[in-house]
Amino acid sequence: MLGWTGTFLNVDLTKHKAVPEQYPEALALNFLGGRGFAVKILWDRLKQGTDPLSAENKLIFATGPLTGIGLPNSGKLVVASKSPLTGGYGDGNIGTLASVNMRKAGYDALIVEGRSEVPVVVYIKDRDTEFVDAKDLWGLSAFETEAQLRQKYGRAVGIVSIGQGGENQVKFANVVSQGGRAGGRPGMGAVMGSKNLKAIVIEGTAQIPLADPEGMRKLAIDGYREILAKPQYPFWKRQGTMSTVEWSQANSSLPTFNYRQAVFEKAEEIGGFAMEKIKVSNRGCPQCNMTCGNVVKDSEGEDAELDYENVIMLGSNVGLGNLAQVSTLNRMADEFGLDSISLGNAIGFAMEASEKGLIEEKIEWGDFESLKQLIKDIAYRRGLGAILAEGVRAASELLGNGSGDWAMHVKGLEVSAYDCHAAPGMALAYGTSSIGAHHKDAWVITWETKVGRASYDQVKVDHLVEVQLVRGGFFEALVSCRFPNNQMGFELEWYQKYLKAATGKDFTLEELNEISNRILTLIRAFWVREYGEKWSRNLDVPPARWFKEPLTEGALKGAALDLEKYNGMLDAYYVKRGWDQRGIPKMSTLRQLDLTEEAKQLGTFVKLTEENPPLVNTPARNTPFP
Ligand code: SF4
Repeated sequence: MLGWTGTFLNVDLTKHKAVPEQYPEALALNFLGGRGFAVKILWDRLKQGTDPLSAENKLIFATGPLTGIGLPNSGKLVVASKSPLTGGYGDGNIGTLASVNMRKAGYDALIVEGRSEVPVVVYIKDRDTEFVDAKDLWGLSAFETEAQLRQKYGRAVGIVSIGQGGENQVKFANVVSQGGRAGGRPGMGAVMGSKNLKAIVIEGTAQIPLADPEGMRKLAIDGYREILAKPQYPFWKRQGTMSTVEWSQANSSLPTFNYRQAVFEKAEEIGGFAMEKIKVSNRGCPQCNMTCGNVVKDSEGEDAELDYENVIMLGSNVGLGNLAQVSTLNRMADEFGLDSISLGNAIGFAMEASEKGLIEEKIEWGDFESLKQLIKDIAYRRGLGAILAEGVRAASELLGNGSGDWAMHVKGLEVSAYDCHAAPGMALAYGTSSIGAHHKDAWVITWETKVGRASYDQVKVDHLVEVQLVRGGFFEALVSCRFPNNQMGFELEWYQKYLKAATGKDFTLEELNEISNRILTLIRAFWVREYGEKWSRNLDVPPARWFKEPLTEGALKGAALDLEKYNGMLDAYYVKRGWDQRGIPKMSTLRQLDLTEEAKQLGTFVKLTEENPPLVNTPARNTPFP
């Protein structure tokens, strides 16, 4: 095999044993890598109904066929598992030197299972693996952990670790690398903590096998140059995703006061231009020349890394309009290894509960000291923090009093930083995303504002499916950052050329579309398998607040989603995907995607609809998405 190493490393933490495994080429050709490998491994090797925080759950770190090669934005890996937050498929991607080193060590993925009796660091050096006692590191933040490990193992190694949030199995704890690089929103850090795995250190020294190394070198240089020459590049380097604050404010989609209103009176104070005033540098993932992490000095004089999502969720959504203080909260989230989107949601939920008198604690909107305290309490599961550490779905089930209407999540994963009172297409993107309410698979809201926000039509469904296939399928399987494509207009044909130089194989856009469709369909099948009898299409419906409580402020005051029309879009979405009206892939769809064995297994848990589906006739395209 060229392009892929053809090898996984199985890491058994119970036995402190690591065994390499050659995998068949068909797996690479059908699932590409990253998210594709992860869902196939989880489907095949995880027993249905496994407790996500048990030793039996598997935690997968997977790269793609372009990872580690000096190509634009390809220094990432996917971390995936059955999620303790949602009970379904969970993953996230992280920019980290661990991805580059994993490939140079000769592995495409690590499959971690079992539970160590004592805290450990797994140290992988090429073909050797050591299980190193980590008692001294347990209790440290992700930053402190990485600093100590870097001192011991050197600057070139890749490190992923957890903070106290992961150790204490906060359900939205993530995995952290290189300061502000973090991923695995649906509790991948909690899974790591449940296994007593504090960190993985990986060091690889071999060459990644390529079909055309010379051609690849040239293509890589051309690609970097093309991105540098884009007219939007200089502004991106200044602000990264932070300019979205002003956009969201202008378009009434800025989550504010737990998604009650979509504009914030202090938006300018936490926006892209305010950020530039306290910015000290850029930080980013390996092999990236678009480095989008904005490093600023926070209110305590420390470095913190900002992007749109984390500023909004720990800013306007909790009523805080001081950017230096927002930065401190974000640094704390990264140190503890807590996902800042879910954290901002959980705190916003608690503040609203306090305002409504549903809890004893008094937590005022925007109160910096209370915010800091609550973040600590969540990380250590103390008092109210212990309840919020379970996520807003579980917290609302405990609280009752109608709080489920304003617990902002889909399938248990808290909503990212776009209010959808007036964005049905984006609401459908959240509703049908692979991991719960996350924007990564399909960020369609800017496109939607251009085509008309009020409509609930087929055009939006078609566009959403198309974007999900490219972003949620192709880029997550390649594990290549989507920003060159959707921010710089770096066309998909570049990736076809990269794939050819890496693997020697020509992939047409139609073939890549089919691989993406296979991955997203298997992810859906995994959800249905794990939920069993509890599966319902209502799980694809976003939070009730967007339907029942119109916006209270701004130019779109009074706007709300229409449930009947939303359900009409959801019907059309299912038809387009070849899923039945319960949102379950039809037998014929699974067969068409070469998922026949998976269909048989799924059929033992739920009755599958047989009927032939219409083909998913999404036109292949080679143009960037807006
Ligand atoms: S653009 Fe940002 S997220 Fe993407 S690879 Fe570069 S630093 Fe990472």
